[in-house]
Amino acid sequence: MSLLRVRGLTKEFGDLVAVDDVDFDVADGEFVSILGPSGSGKSTVLRMVAGFEEPTEGEIALDDVEIVGSPPFERDVNMVFQDLALFPHLTVAENIGYGLKQSGVPADERRERTERMLEMVRLEGYGDRTPTELSGGEQQRVALARALVNEPALVLFDEPLSSLDRKLRQHMQSELQRIQVETETTFLYVTHDQEVALAVSDRLVVLDDGEIQQVGTVEELYEEPASRFVADFIGDVNAVEGRVTAVDDGTIGLDVDGGEVSIPRDAAVEDLAVDDAVDVCIRPFQVRVEPTDVDDSAGDALVAGEFSTTGVVRSRSYQGSDSQYGIETDRWGRLSAEVRSAAFDVDDRVTVAWDAADVHVYRRDGEEPADDRDGGS
Ligand code: ADP
Ligand code: MG
Repeated sequence: MSLLRVRGLTKEFGDLVAVDDVDFDVADGEFVSILGPSGSGKSTVLRMVAGFEEPTEGEIALDDVEIVGSPPFERDVNMVFQDLALFPHLTVAENIGYGLKQSGVPADERRERTERMLEMVRLEGYGDRTPTELSGGEQQRVALARALVNEPALVLFDEPLSSLDRKLRQHMQSELQRIQVETETTFLYVTHDQEVALAVSDRLVVLDDGEIQQVGTVEELYEEPASRFVADFIGDVNAVEGRVTAVDDGTIGLDVDGGEVSIPRDAAVEDLAVDDAVDVCIRPFQVRVEPTDVDDSAGDALVAGEFSTTGVVRSRSYQGSDSQYGIETDRWGRLSAEVRSAAFDVDDRVTVAWDAADVHVYRRDGEEPADDRDGGS
């Protein structure tokens, strides 16, 4: 059973539809992230779950009980804010124990539970300091301890790590995961940073313009993105523009940059018709680069599920154990390939190949009839 169930959640601010008919579930013990660009409605979703914002429409159930309309303090939910919102004039221990004091927990028990939380977030001995005497990372830990101390069913995070430098952020990510597992708490985490979301989450909810684009595991979103937006947002992708010239049982004919190609019909994520404008998407790590002795364009070949074409290496860079090549292909425009081999040089003529099954084709954004959605800013 899901711990959090969100159905038809909508929030309008005047003419702006900030959150548009959003459905998702979070299972007990799960770590789910809402990922989307700035302004996509992430914070608004979180604030409605916390109770700081009333939905215009929709349902939010926690543990099967409808919570829309009930005040924030009656919800079994705590939130860690982007700016942390620690009380500067209280000590670390007082910050953490604040909620327990408010709900009348006796001093002895308060001290004991606060102590246990300080241990959990690895801040033993810091209880008497004030927040200003702590580093950014330590302040994060205090905010987390304060959110966990009264053992809520669900903890909400609104981009709390965005102010940290990369190394500390990565460290705090693994700390969050450890603490989530140890406390057996359910986390709903909001971020615009795909690196954070991919690193920490069991599942992702991808939001754009207030609407859900896709819900799934990291692998599902990476391997089977439901749209060009998701493909672009989760990792790198080569996107080649084309137009459909033919559709038959097994294949789709496309007119791309340099000519006619044909791809397996399975590659199309949605039904396509002749004349549709499309994006053909392939991940750089799925593109193989091979030596070729053919001087002129050998044309394209689709043999036993493998597609190949020819091109010239225009750029290369080393990234740890991988090399990233920019290849000007004869028909597919410029493609980026991420391969193990460092054997190719700029100006080398190469064969570029990929499994036809790794290609995804999407109808192009903006080529559909304009809808009436208010895009906001
Ligand atoms: P995100 O957290 O993904 O950056 P938000 O949920 O903060 O996005 O905002 C979504 C949209 O709603 C934005 O266009 C934002 O300007 C708008 N918005 C958010 N809160 C309010 C508000 N209180 N009044 C009017 N517009 C708002
Ligand atoms: Mg926000």
